[in-house]
Amino acid sequence: MTAHHFAGHKLWHFHGGLHLPEHKETTRDRESRPLPLPQRLVLSLHQHIGEDAEPVVRVGERVWKGQLIARAPSYVSAPLHAPTSGTVTDIGEHPLPHPSGLPGPCIVIEPDGEDAWWPERPQGTRDYLELDPAEIRQRVRDAGIVGLGGAAFPTAVKLNPPAAHPVDTLVINGAECEPYITCDDRLMRERAREVLEGARIIRHALGVERVLVGIEDNKPEAFEALRHELHGESRGGIELIRVPTIYPTGGEKQLIKVLTGREVPSNGLPSDIGVVCQNVGTAAAVYRAIVHGEPLISRLVTVTGHGVAEPGNVEALIGTPIAHLVAHSGGYTEHAERLVMGGPMMGFALHTDELPIIKGTNCILVAREEEVVDPVEPMPCIRCGRCTAACPVDLLPQQLYWYAHARDFDHIQDYNLFDCIECGCCAYVCPSHLPLVHYYRYAKTEIWAQEREKEKADRARRRHEFRLERLEREKREKAERMAKKKAELAKKLKDKEKGGGQDAIQAALERVRQKKAAQGGAETDRQRRPRPRPAPGSNEPPAVASDAGSETHTDPGRQED
Ligand code: SF4
Ligand code: SF4
Repeated sequence: MTAHHFAGHKLWHFHGGLHLPEHKETTRDRESRPLPLPQRLVLSLHQHIGEDAEPVVRVGERVWKGQLIARAPSYVSAPLHAPTSGTVTDIGEHPLPHPSGLPGPCIVIEPDGEDAWWPERPQGTRDYLELDPAEIRQRVRDAGIVGLGGAAFPTAVKLNPPAAHPVDTLVINGAECEPYITCDDRLMRERAREVLEGARIIRHALGVERVLVGIEDNKPEAFEALRHELHGESRGGIELIRVPTIYPTGGEKQLIKVLTGREVPSNGLPSDIGVVCQNVGTAAAVYRAIVHGEPLISRLVTVTGHGVAEPGNVEALIGTPIAHLVAHSGGYTEHAERLVMGGPMMGFALHTDELPIIKGTNCILVAREEEVVDPVEPMPCIRCGRCTAACPVDLLPQQLYWYAHARDFDHIQDYNLFDCIECGCCAYVCPSHLPLVHYYRYAKTEIWAQEREKEKADRARRRHEFRLERLEREKREKAERMAKKKAELAKKLKDKEKGGGQDAIQAALERVRQKKAAQGGAETDRQRRPRPRPAPGSNEPPAVASDAGSETHTDPGRQED
């Protein structure tokens, strides 16, 4: 690991990286502008990494600015709010700005021109230190804030790192390393207080002391604006640090390495090494949510390239069609040949300007063909190794290309495909002009599709197994119930038989007892009465009581004396 001191703070280097032409001069010194309301807003329900938001409004419903229009259905998701007041005119599939070009579910709003805030908008507070960290996370979550550096990961999730990895450092990313893009530069210059206050709020939510704000040294005005606001380069646990301008220093893992010397493990997260990283735009959005109660409904977007007449940065509502951004940036020039969302290294081509911007959109680049498309036909790999030398993640791009080309999606993962940040350094230096990043994106998409299929098949198998298990259990329980019932019945019968016999004996004994008692009474009477005498000359013996019978056989016609 190499390190050097840069303006007083010890810095480390990451592997590879490039010095690229910056092309930032056309927009960096122009103040950002708000845009007039567009005729319609198309809000994708998939603005972020994670599960799509679910609509809570209906077609025809009137909505207010800042009103919740789609809820987050799970932990890794983010809600969506109306960027202005108006009417919901459609909920359905619309083309989305995505490399696949596929449509996706959207809510369409027709603005009413009043731009009226939702009366039930949450109250903000300047006393954020009084808020519990969990309360801050909830408010950030409710405001629909996602990472504005491009990744669009739900911020509330990042503010709640696993307890197993205590976080001690917050990194605020103001590097903005990709050519052409200047929205973070303008934000730091124009809203330095919001960025720093946002950093303090995030620090409070994380419960950490140390905040490192990394700014590439090609943005001296932004650094000065923050330094002025902070009253120094280091104060109250916050340090402003100039970092060398090397692409891609703005990558999360690369900036963490440069500022702290720590390396995020393969397939790991910054929180694994005690760091959370947030973009400057995200910090400003957190400030607006906590202090002013504003959800994330707009952002700064750089509109640039030779194909735009008046390049600059605009404050655009989420869902604004790109055509509206370009129209209010002087319109197209004769050089408008390619439309790209993002920068020339990590952005992706769009087929129409009717597509809306999303929360993660930092740049619209309208370029000449040769600015973004390699005019030379690809040739076979000559195994020069330049791609390996340039890779900031220390991967083997040539091997990745080889396995992606061969559709060997098992082996490609052995070479840590998913650590690739798609920075494009390898393709930029490749003398064979191979579109390497396209191959990596293709391989990732295929693997995700296969995993989704596998997941679907696993779910179906689990459902089937569960059904069989349930049927088997029900059968077993039924058999047990029947056996129990049978046993109870048999026992009852037995008891009855047993109980019935005893009853009969008891009854017989009772009858005998009663008879005896009756006989005892009759004997006494007989003893008191004179015994009948046999008739003279009769040989008949005198009548005697018989023990064997209950009746006394006397001659009813014979009267006693
Ligand atoms: S830079 Fe291009 S030609 Fe050279 S090894 Fe890498 S993929 Fe092959
Ligand atoms: S695109 Fe991926 S493989 Fe190529 S240099 Fe960047 S991180 Fe490395």
